[in-house]
Amino acid sequence: MSHKYEPKVLLYSGGFDSFLLRKRLRESLEPLTLLHFNVGVDYSKREQEQVRNQIYAPNEDLKINDTFRMESEANHYVPLRNIYFFLKAFEHAPKVFVGTTVFDFFRDTNEDILKAVENFMKVYYYNVPKPENWKGFSPEVISPHKDLSKSEALNLCLEENVVTEKEISELISCYAPTTDKGCGKCSACVRKAVALANNDIGIDCFDQDVKPHIEALYKDQLEYMSTFSLFDQWQEEYEKALDK
Ligand SMILES: [Zn+2]
Repeated sequence: MSHKYEPKVLLYSGGFDSFLLRKRLRESLEPLTLLHFNVGVDYSKREQEQVRNQIYAPNEDLKINDTFRMESEANHYVPLRNIYFFLKAFEHAPKVFVGTTVFDFFRDTNEDILKAVENFMKVYYYNVPKPENWKGFSPEVISPHKDLSKSEALNLCLEENVVTEKEISELISCYAPTTDKGCGKCSACVRKAVALANNDIGIDCFDQDVKPHIEALYKDQLEYMSTFSLFDQWQEEYEKALDK
């Protein structure tokens, strides 16, 4: 069985990062599987609702996976969860895309981990036969926005006209939404607001004034972030947004 295109899958939460990457990838018109994981934590229901209500292009195929239920996790951020997602994603395609951005370097989607996951899959398929639909292809984890901040990724999408200011403002990328807007307080909302502000898009699309929370997150992370080589870039991203 031969395929014209190398099968591709995108880890798709429907939040800020994966939404932007999806918008760029679908432009190629090549088939793309969007793999959404319903992990069953408090924000999963709304996340899934949003993903189901989005409008998909004919080359996009949304799949919702219920394998990893993490109801017991008290924290919004489930450590290592992306590792499970990657391994599952390889059941769909040899080319796995993830929308991670540059300041995610301390998360489970940092560059070294992506490389390690890719190498693990290569070792696994060294002797084990590859799935029928990926004959001739090697496992790969691809993160096209890994060197960009969220502001830069958004800027790129706006320049390429693959996303509008309205749709990114209305997109909920939030750990604790209670209405049809982001809470304006959680770290996901704050990081989205920073990207909006840096692209001269209004930040009044949240349930509450997000600006004090940008300032709070900035102050809270300052000391921790100062130990990393990307500190200047990170600081610039926040200070620019706070100046708006
Ligand atoms: Zn929020």
